[in-house]
Amino acid sequence: MTPFYVSSEIYRNSSYGPKHPLAVPRVSVCTDLCRALGWLPDTVYRDAPMATDAELARFHHLGYIAALRQAERDQHVSADVRETYRIGAEGNPVYREVFRRPAISAGGVMLAARLTAEGGIVHCPGGGTHHGRADRAAGFCFLNDPVLGLLTWLDHGLDNVVYLDIDAHHGDGVQDAFHADPRVLTISLHEGNRWPFTGAAADTAGGTARNFPLPTGCNDSEFAYVMQTAVLPLIAARRPQAIMLQAGADALEEDPLAKLSLSNNAHRAVVQAIMPLAPRLVVLGGGGYNPFTTGRCWALIWGTLNDFPLPDRLPPDAEAGLRALHYNRAAGRNPPDHWFTTLLDTPREGPIRDAVRHMTKEALST
Ligand SMILES: [Zn+2]
Repeated sequence: MTPFYVSSEIYRNSSYGPKHPLAVPRVSVCTDLCRALGWLPDTVYRDAPMATDAELARFHHLGYIAALRQAERDQHVSADVRETYRIGAEGNPVYREVFRRPAISAGGVMLAARLTAEGGIVHCPGGGTHHGRADRAAGFCFLNDPVLGLLTWLDHGLDNVVYLDIDAHHGDGVQDAFHADPRVLTISLHEGNRWPFTGAAADTAGGTARNFPLPTGCNDSEFAYVMQTAVLPLIAARRPQAIMLQAGADALEEDPLAKLSLSNNAHRAVVQAIMPLAPRLVVLGGGGYNPFTTGRCWALIWGTLNDFPLPDRLPPDAEAGLRALHYNRAAGRNPPDHWFTTLLDTPREGPIRDAVRHMTKEALST
């Protein structure tokens, strides 16, 4: 079955504000790269619909949904709303599309779940807002589209699904939403000692979660060790009906918000390893604050899902699109050439530290 690509043009010119890490484009970079590579015919593209209030209310509180709508309308929130719902606070700014953008992400992931109800693969790079809470914003996430997608699968009668999260930050919102729910196993690989400071190796959320906190500087070899020793056997043993992968790109070496050292070979390997493990697969985006490495990573995932041969050098249109991006960070002032000319990174292999072995053992024994 041909994979579908679910996305929206709303991401193209949307920004959380000039000083915010989400000032940069990501989803549009991925889409443009895929189009320039000839990988995205109209027949596989599906426009993400905006979720209705009733759909959002499957997880979110109606008062919070109304507050988000009002924040977009007014472009301002009261001190009370800021305090209650964390809108306009803690990295969750009031911006132009503060309701529509997350509601379209949610609608996209729910559409992805419906498209795969009988089987299949969907890439939905605008999804992945894994920190969102039922009644408040958290960690740049206003709504929790992974939770809404997983609930859509459950509402279609599925009762054995796996949520795998390889974002640099712990997938706390999804883990907590399915705390002690035996239908959903949530697995998170993330940088330890980083916000939100949850997801220790001993944390199993009532027996339905596994957590693998990685040390600073985690390389491709260490990541592959955790995947092969622990994560893939856990998933295979469960024989899930569906897998949702949150493929945040902030664990890549060049990301400004985390200190892990993966190349995008790690993301490619995860996708290749989980594709045979379930008849349904939905891949989401997530974090990723370097527009070059994030866009390339998510385009690489689309190529991997389709088993397209990878070019050694990007075609001229793809390169021109990347060169036209603005990235207002130190690394953006003197960007390395491979950000413009390649899709696949050079692997970042290295020794497997004892800390990684010990953490994996602890996570498996809890
Ligand atoms: Zn993240």
